[in-house]
Amino acid sequence: MSTIAFIGLGNMGGGMAANLAKAGHIVRAFDLSDDAIKRAVGAGCIAAKSTLDALDGAEVVITMLPAGQHVRSIYLGDDGIIANATDGTLLIDSSTIDIDSARVVIEAAQAKGLAMVDAPVSGGVAAAAAGTLTFMVGGTKSAFAKAQDYLEQMGKNIFHAGAAGNGQAAKVCNNMLLGITMIGTCEAFALAEKLGLDAQTFYDISSTASGQSWSMTTYCPAPGPVPSAPSNRDYAAGFTAAMMLKDMRLAQQAAAAAKAATPLGAQAEALYALMESAGKDDLDFSGIMKLIDGSL
Ligand code: NAD
Repeated sequence: MSTIAFIGLGNMGGGMAANLAKAGHIVRAFDLSDDAIKRAVGAGCIAAKSTLDALDGAEVVITMLPAGQHVRSIYLGDDGIIANATDGTLLIDSSTIDIDSARVVIEAAQAKGLAMVDAPVSGGVAAAAAGTLTFMVGGTKSAFAKAQDYLEQMGKNIFHAGAAGNGQAAKVCNNMLLGITMIGTCEAFALAEKLGLDAQTFYDISSTASGQSWSMTTYCPAPGPVPSAPSNRDYAAGFTAAMMLKDMRLAQQAAAAAKAATPLGAQAEALYALMESAGKDDLDFSGIMKLIDGSL
């Protein structure tokens, strides 16, 4: 068993840290929120007073933070994790962030001889609590091999996506596709209704035909056909439209830097930004159905 510093105990990190404690690790937990630390202590973690205090005795550091600027500020600089971690410490960042930040931080870690991976996740808060996340990991083969055992205690599917930053690349490409298929699925259900085809009948046909996708069969944006989908609870999140917009923006940023044409990704970003400007981005991302059918 290892001593693990876990920084960022929010909706996702709270469940992930709890699973590591349950697996028998000593988890030294820190968050800017005292309430988040209290919840982690209730789940078997040890309260740390700061990020640097959490590092005390840690062989592994895991971070689960909102965005790239948080990750840069916590890892880089004289007071950062990289400057203060002892030799041999393994660093894992599971936040969803821009690819540039991921690569800059991992290069800085490597320059100090520390193994580090970017390991963003797919699966929401329930998967974080249940330990069934999917991890997309970027970094060297040896860093991946070191991280794998720990990731397996928080997730079900662990993929090595290639060099540093490739975990983030896999994540933004996947979520861009998810945003696009969700909007397309909404358009199809809204059109079907206007053409006199009820949602269940259209679902029965399309879910076994070529229009089928995860957005349709697991997360159907039209109420009815998939009882567990947020559409049946007035689009209570789930995965919020705000989170989807964040990922769409990361995808567009990556596309611009790589000079990749992503016209549907750009359109999807613009539509999710309308959810934000309507003040409805706290709805589940499938709630974009309301924008498409005019009921927002
Ligand atoms: P969250 O806002 O609930 O948690 C982030 C936590 O980080 C907060 O508790 C905050 O206090 C803490 N924090 C911020 N700066 C800090 C600092 N300097 N030191 C210590 N703690 C700090 O967010 P979340 O939903 O847990 O998401 C975390 C990451 O996971 C994000 O990058 C998000 O995009 C990604 N993600 C989220 C989901 C989801 O469904 N919520 C799914 C997949 C990926």
